[in-house]
Amino acid sequence: MSLNKKTVDDINVKGKRVLVRCDFNVPLKEGKITDENRLVAALPTIKKLLADGGKVILCSHLGKPKGEPKPELSLAPVAARLSELLGQEVKFAADPEVVGPNAKAAVAAMKDGECILLENTRYRAEETKNGEEFSKELASLCDVFVNDAFGTAHRAHCSNVGVTQFVDTCVVGYLMEKEIAFLGNAVENPVRPFVAILGGAKVADKLNVISNLLEKCDTLIIGGGMAFTFLKAQGKEVGKSLVDDTKLDYCKEMIAKAEKLGKKLLLPVDAAVAESFPNPIDAAIDVKMVSADEIPADMMGLDIGPKSAELYAEAAKTAKTVVWNGPMGVFENPTLAAGTIAVAKALAETDATTIIGGGDSAAAVNQLGFGDKMSHISTGGGASLEFLEGKELPGVAAANDNK
Ligand code: ATP
Repeated sequence: MSLNKKTVDDINVKGKRVLVRCDFNVPLKEGKITDENRLVAALPTIKKLLADGGKVILCSHLGKPKGEPKPELSLAPVAARLSELLGQEVKFAADPEVVGPNAKAAVAAMKDGECILLENTRYRAEETKNGEEFSKELASLCDVFVNDAFGTAHRAHCSNVGVTQFVDTCVVGYLMEKEIAFLGNAVENPVRPFVAILGGAKVADKLNVISNLLEKCDTLIIGGGMAFTFLKAQGKEVGKSLVDDTKLDYCKEMIAKAEKLGKKLLLPVDAAVAESFPNPIDAAIDVKMVSADEIPADMMGLDIGPKSAELYAEAAKTAKTVVWNGPMGVFENPTLAAGTIAVAKALAETDATTIIGGGDSAAAVNQLGFGDKMSHISTGGGASLEFLEGKELPGVAAANDNK
């Protein structure tokens, strides 16, 4: 799928100040980055701009500081780790105002081929409101703007959308291009059979994704907490399982839609059930495997059962394209991770194009050590879901069209 947007390959940045919006929203534990996938994914664009002699000014948000400086959400540790990954100093422009006197002085002192990182853009309250003033301040730092933050592309904020109003040349980076190419091709132009696997907690979070993917795929597989609303819609007893009673009609509609379109819709045929949700989430738990027709009224389904896992793995193995978003069960608990592991393993073993939507499924695949066996692991959870819903992403739309 062609993105039809100008990219970093269409511009000459020699001697220019280039502001690059990255997604450096990485998990931190006691000041240490615990998953650096997003940093690694940002390197190709940064390297290209530096090699071309640009003055590269990086920016990103990190967590939710809610519009004020929070030292524990400073991007300083990211600058340090990025310097190591790049093999070149990424100077940190510490500045509580993000674009205050320190940042401006740091940019003014830059030489061609140098790189700096601004402070967390969400230190400013205007950021998430797409306010004009902060957008203008960001724009004043640069001659060219590059958006490579796929993980934030579903939001219209100052640092990815507002800023583009005040900079003439706005393009997308390699990561953005790659994300859209994989997700876009899978959905719009898939090599068939195309199997979509959806899991996670709630049906309500994925209404439009279910409906849109049903139209595009050959087989839709449902697991995770959301499967129980579907089972209840089929008239089954689901006991104390997670159910959204307001979405029963919606699930019935989707079951009918699948039939009408001649698509396979796979629901769990068995489940791992327990008396209550594990507390804490990784606590030891007694589970029972039951058929999906025999879930006891006083128990709850917390994972797909072994027969469903086999059925899903088989379906995944016959596919040529697989898109997966959301775990099959409460995978944070080792006893309830079997369904998610089985699906991850099946995907790791096929030579189909395998695309993992971000969020929990990406974390699960990486934790299980299957990361390098997948064709593409998206860096954006919410963004990849909205893309799979068929929505236009504001962060992408704001870049210059490739006329
Ligand atoms: P993200 O929103 O981060 O992209 P996701 O789309 O992969 O994540 P979510 O909808 O957030 O998935 O759901 C993940 C959560 O669903 C996990 O924490 C998991 O424990 C929970 N979950 C999975 N199966 C069940 C179940 N049967 N009952 C209750 N919770 C479940």
